[in-house]
Amino acid sequence: MKTTRTLILGAGLSGLSAAFHLAGDEYLVVEKNSAPGGLCTSEEKQGFVFDRTGHWLHMRDERMRRLAASLPGVDWVTIERRSHVFSHGTVTCYPFQSHTFGLPPRVIRECLLGFIRARYESGRPRPPENFYEWCMASLGEGISRHFMIPYNSKLYTVHPREFACHWCDTYIPVPTIEQVVDGALTDPGHDSAGYNATFSYPARGGIGALPAALFRLCPRERFMFDARPVAIDMRRRVARLASGDEIGFGALVSTIPLRDLLRLVRCGESDRLHAAADRMKIASVSYCNAAFTAPPAHPGHWFYIPEERFMPYRVGFYSSAHAPMAPPGRSAAYIEHTHQGALADEAAFKRASVELLLTMGLFKSPDDILFMDYRLIENGYVIFHREYPDDMKMVADWCRDSGVALAGRYGRWVYSAMEDAVLDGMRAAEAAREMVSLRGSL
Ligand SMILES: Cc1cc2nc3c(=O)[nH]c(=O)nc-3n(C[C@H](O)[C@H](O)[C@H](O)COP(=O)(O)OP(=O)(O)OC[C@H]3O[C@@H](n4cnc5c(N)ncnc54)[C@H](O)[C@@H]3O)c2cc1C
Repeated sequence: MKTTRTLILGAGLSGLSAAFHLAGDEYLVVEKNSAPGGLCTSEEKQGFVFDRTGHWLHMRDERMRRLAASLPGVDWVTIERRSHVFSHGTVTCYPFQSHTFGLPPRVIRECLLGFIRARYESGRPRPPENFYEWCMASLGEGISRHFMIPYNSKLYTVHPREFACHWCDTYIPVPTIEQVVDGALTDPGHDSAGYNATFSYPARGGIGALPAALFRLCPRERFMFDARPVAIDMRRRVARLASGDEIGFGALVSTIPLRDLLRLVRCGESDRLHAAADRMKIASVSYCNAAFTAPPAHPGHWFYIPEERFMPYRVGFYSSAHAPMAPPGRSAAYIEHTHQGALADEAAFKRASVELLLTMGLFKSPDDILFMDYRLIENGYVIFHREYPDDMKMVADWCRDSGVALAGRYGRWVYSAMEDAVLDGMRAAEAAREMVSLRGSL
């Protein structure tokens, strides 16, 4: 049996970051795919580069900036966000709540009045209990009805009454009354509100250049690819792999979907952990890599599509954000749709994607499309179920008592971004070092 001080599950950005930050220590990474990078990988076809839908790096933390700047072979460009919303046949600026200019007057009126009523006429309401209540209380009825509710119903595949709202204050900008009024009267072209007004992106190779650089800095022999655990015995601290091999470990860093990890562990609390796993739900993302003979008619980087009549929830243009993502004079795009379980009809999704692009006026004819390839992200958006806070507390207690560190969007079962994945990996490496020293080496 192999043994290691720290076993890392998954070689996406958070697993790679954990490995990188464990430099000098003994560890082993087990990855089910044949290459590292997870969701942050890029593919190239006929001179077009595609990520696994838009992966734009927003760096807010100084440690992330330092790490990104130090990565050999990666030059970064800084891009000012041009994100938009397409609704009522009109392209407006994102975020919708402070940019209603251009919408039909009736819609603007509903948004303004709703915002004012929520702000000044609602008395002292109790704290919101779900995402729907958060939207109504923070943004008002009009903005909720014309954007927040339909968009998020599409994205999360369930009605916003069905999911929790603890993440909203961090990720959803609530404008001032002045911003809402100004945004109804003027078109700023694009907007810098919110947590991601500019982003960084590798000058070459797509976002895949980021994990590739981290991987190059880690010893290759510490990685096992095409390998996955089928059971993790927490009493013996041994992971059994699908190949039949066993790996003994001191600390465990997991970046694989938490739901999967909980189903793999065998310990005194297995029943409670498995029951929590059964309550956890996630939306899958189907997307198309699309290549066009020309640039789109609008310079926006990406467009949110709230209306139910369109199947996709977002369309974005890699080459509008960063021209080298497509050959000169052409363009590369992603079109996204979420669902639970398998996608019912791939051809219908492609047809709906073409219809959206034409309805938006981005292209004149289907002949502008060079190719459109279907892809799937099985784990896309965590749906925060009702028992989420209690379940997550129980899982956190179990992790603390069991020498397990969770990292990454799926490992921690949260909504988070690439920067969080890198920082999580950093913290998980520190935690693993502590756990191993507390438990004594193997
Ligand atoms: C549609 C979409 C768009 C996004 N856009 C952005 C964006 O613009 N900006 C941004 O910052 N973030 C974005 N994100 C979030 C970003 O992708 C994640 O935060 C980040 O990639 C998470 O990295 P990770 O390593 O934690 O997870 P992953 O990338 O999922 O890596 C997990 C790894 O574990 C492996 N694995 C899974 N199960 C097993 C198993 N049983 N055994 C062994 N290995 C296993 C997987 O193969 C994978 O390599 C987006 C996410 C989605 C879904």
